[in-house]
Amino acid sequence: MRLTIVAGLAAASLALAGCGGGNDGGDGADSGENGEGITVGIKFDQPGLGLKEGAEYHGFDVDVARYVAEKLGYSEDQITWVESVSAQRENMIENGQVDMIVATYSITDSRKERVSFAGPYLVAGQGLLVQDATADITGPETLDGKKLCSVAGSTPAERIKEEYAAGVQLQEAQGYSECVELLASGTVDAVTTDDSILAGFAAQEQYAGKLKLVGEPFSEENYGIGVKKDSEMCEKVNEALTSMIEDGSWETFLKDSLGEAYTPNPDQNPPTPGGNCS
Ligand code: GLU
Repeated sequence: MRLTIVAGLAAASLALAGCGGGNDGGDGADSGENGEGITVGIKFDQPGLGLKEGAEYHGFDVDVARYVAEKLGYSEDQITWVESVSAQRENMIENGQVDMIVATYSITDSRKERVSFAGPYLVAGQGLLVQDATADITGPETLDGKKLCSVAGSTPAERIKEEYAAGVQLQEAQGYSECVELLASGTVDAVTTDDSILAGFAAQEQYAGKLKLVGEPFSEENYGIGVKKDSEMCEKVNEALTSMIEDGSWETFLKDSLGEAYTPNPDQNPPTPGGNCS
């Protein structure tokens, strides 16, 4: 599979200018109905989903977060972005370090013991990223004796340990960008996580013709927005996500951020948000 990114970032900023509804600087003095801001956890190192570039934040999750924040009454300049690596997400929500997390965060029963989720707002599936020349890795059952990288505290790393542990040497990094660097340098044989994330990396110019996704997705990752357990905010976020899907923003955000690189399974997307607040 050869993937290219098409004017993704330029289009994303246009879309954001369009959805902010009053963030053109002209009405900056009126900073929304909420006196304080909102702190949002995102990924900083996942192209197409959550990426920090200098002082700018890009990606599908970032667009989703901006849309939801606006519906909750927060203008763009009231959002504080913080990095939430996979293993720290429940802690950060429980400690109050963030008000919500929009970071390729799968809704699972064990996480729901500690946090609540609005959503799902996207359904992805676990995949494998390998070097373009690799021919003997075609699915999770072909990983015997292979060096694999994934991220600590993620559902894909857990799945490998639980279901495919026997012959696999799993290295757990802090973030996926670290794994992809190890793959590009040949230190590991494959990277595993959601196909959405892997596609975002593969579409990077520096990896063109070098990395490829292989096989069929082998899990269902329902992305939710994590909030404090049983928080009142949860249903409001569900309403915002529902309107985001219904008014066409969902599709626009996806095209702007991931473009040709990734098309989510149309049988599962867009999903219907709700049912995970408690
Ligand atoms: N969606 C999976 C998870 O929540 C993998 C992606 C990630 O680590 O953010 O664990």
